Amino acid sequence: MRIGLGFDSHAFAPGVPLVIGGLKIEHPEGLAGHSDGDLLLHAITDALLGAVSAGDIGTFFPPTDPKWKGADSTLFLRTALEEIALVGFKIVNIDCVLIMHRPKIVPIAADMRERVADLLHLDINNVSIKGKTPEGLTQDGTAVAHVVVLLESIKLPDENKVLAIEADAPNEADIDGVLSTIAADATDISALGRKLPTFDTDDLT
Ligand code: MG
Repeated sequence: MRIGLGFDSHAFAPGVPLVIGGLKIEHPEGLAGHSDGDLLLHAITDALLGAVSAGDIGTFFPPTDPKWKGADSTLFLRTALEEIALVGFKIVNIDCVLIMHRPKIVPIAADMRERVADLLHLDINNVSIKGKTPEGLTQDGTAVAHVVVLLESIKLPDENKVLAIEADAPNEADIDGVLSTIAADATDISALGRKLPTFDTDDLT
């Protein structure tokens, strides 16, 4: 299993559509950013990439690149999903905290959970989204997202190794050896020959 942590913040600005968790929300202000400002999808993307040590959102989508201007953040999320699948992992569950003064999250949390579950191909019961007000933080004009994601390996034990155990009826030490090899195969993501991008935390997305 792997665990990933994501964080993002954006400032509210007038005249910008508000999109959080891929959900369009009726609100007088939106979140300013190089992309569509969807801080929840940015934090989820970072949590997924972090869980497989693949860098962060800025690694894949540098804010200096004009082609990501106004980009739909579901594109960033899809890339992160591909990255975790590439190294043999899938999401178990995700827990999110959104911190903002307005809009209130609780009335829209059910719709947001449904949208995020759909984007992540998860059962809605494996998606948690909680809303908090930034009391004492003097951050009324800012939205903040924290995300934790748990991944599990989707690699199945090598069939030949399992058959070898059954055919040869080896002793307990042999079985332990095979099992530890399987476990090592499942967690050594560097063995897949994937070139990890260099880290770039200068994320303005
Ligand atoms: Mg962002």
